[in-house]
Amino acid sequence: MQKNFIAGEWLEGARFSRNINPSDTRDLVGEYAQADAAQTQLAIAAAEAAFPAWSLSTPQQRFDILDAIGSEILARRAELGDLLAREEGKTMPEAVGEVARAGNIFKFFAGEALRPGGEMMPSVRPGVGIEISREALGVIGIITPWNFPIAIPAWKIAPALAYGNCVVFKPADLVPGSAWALAEILSRSGLPQGVFNLVMGRGSEVGATLLADPRIAAVTFTGSVGTGQKVAAACVARMAKFQLEMGGKNPMVVLDDADLGVAVNCAVQSGFFSTGQRCTASSRLIVTDGIHDRFVAAVMERMQSLKVDDARKAGTDIGPVVDQSQLDQDMAYIGIAQAEGAQLVCGGEAIERSADGHPGFYLTPALLSGTSATMRINREEVFGPVVSVLRATDYEEALFMANDTPFGLAAGIATTSLKHATHFKRHSQAGMVMVNLPTAGVDYHVPFGGRKGSSYGPREQGRYAAEFYTTVKTAYTQA
Ligand code: NAD
Repeated sequence: MQKNFIAGEWLEGARFSRNINPSDTRDLVGEYAQADAAQTQLAIAAAEAAFPAWSLSTPQQRFDILDAIGSEILARRAELGDLLAREEGKTMPEAVGEVARAGNIFKFFAGEALRPGGEMMPSVRPGVGIEISREALGVIGIITPWNFPIAIPAWKIAPALAYGNCVVFKPADLVPGSAWALAEILSRSGLPQGVFNLVMGRGSEVGATLLADPRIAAVTFTGSVGTGQKVAAACVARMAKFQLEMGGKNPMVVLDDADLGVAVNCAVQSGFFSTGQRCTASSRLIVTDGIHDRFVAAVMERMQSLKVDDARKAGTDIGPVVDQSQLDQDMAYIGIAQAEGAQLVCGGEAIERSADGHPGFYLTPALLSGTSATMRINREEVFGPVVSVLRATDYEEALFMANDTPFGLAAGIATTSLKHATHFKRHSQAGMVMVNLPTAGVDYHVPFGGRKGSSYGPREQGRYAAEFYTTVKTAYTQA
């Protein structure tokens, strides 16, 4: 049984949960403690007590600790990647890549601990100087989803600590294994007791306790829109700072002048890889008339060659869906789309066993054509390997359709036209825009986030993370 890490100690939970491998449901990854409200409050108290000293720790101390954490994660990327693939179901190359990203994020923020610059300004009054600086907030509550079990925790924990905050981290119930392994590394990193705490457990209990506690200065959340709305309401009620990263319905526009190979690669990569379970996945392919039929035929041909199998088996392109309820949701949306008049032209078949006969939650990638902008399949996030095609007459209509969504996380365009690429970058209503690249797959040192219903609050990652994890102080001095 893996325990929670609170005030520098490993503690039994009130209950425990079983972590199941979605590629082989007979395989128990492990048993993990689940905290209750009282234990969560213990973690909050420990973090609060640790804050005064940690917020004044030297940049060198923070650099050394975060850099060492990053080095260990990178050195153990194969082992941690295997655990991640086993509990979440992404393929080994994807899982190892995610672990490496987590390691690089810790190293990036180790550097940021050394660069907390400020500004000096003259006052409008004679003899007065002004300094503008950033300070840590206090205790940060971190709530993460299941689809990036180590990278998302890393991109919240690393900046929180780098800027001098303390952390209470609640990972997703479905994937406690990678979160626990990360916490175990942090527990040996030299962080003073209470600076970092892990409380695994239910959202309705551990998560809700974090949201309600006045000792939590700020909450950073990634997950679904519904839960994000609860986080927002709870934080506003007590005027706590918060940041939300939520769903997407990301468009990939394919114009007549696109390089067909590039366009197909962008669509297949970001539509189906990681089993379509990425907030930046392209789930709407908006294709102009002149290339539509050739493009759909080429995507279907490529889809036939994708191997859906055990996530940890060499040669697997697409691992299983994360669990039965997500599989049910994926299948339900395929049915809803068909009932609204879409054609299922490829895939969409639930398979109960891997090639080796393991019971798991397998689904062949699904392509729906003949869809229209008002259908639910084009307005609601599925979060699976389910992609729809919309036909557009020209670039202008394609751009309109791309923006015609309640979400605004990522958007892509495949084109060889500099004019259209430039116009799309400027006029897309998404936080991240890709030209001739998949919408999923972003760098770790630059801002990440969206607009409209996808995000709320300052951007995550890169230097922009300071906006959330610090507060600004303006100090006046009369010489
Ligand atoms: P979810 O909303 O069900 O859960 C997210 C986290 O919130 C979990 O840790 C959960 O336990 C916790 N939670 C649940 N109820 C809570 C409550 N009442 N109070 C406090 N915490 C609570 O999301 P999920 O199913 O784990 O993740 C999938 C979703 O995450 C998708 O919608 C996806 O688009 C989104 N996502 C967004 C991004 C992004 O950066 N925009 C990245 C990855 C995933």
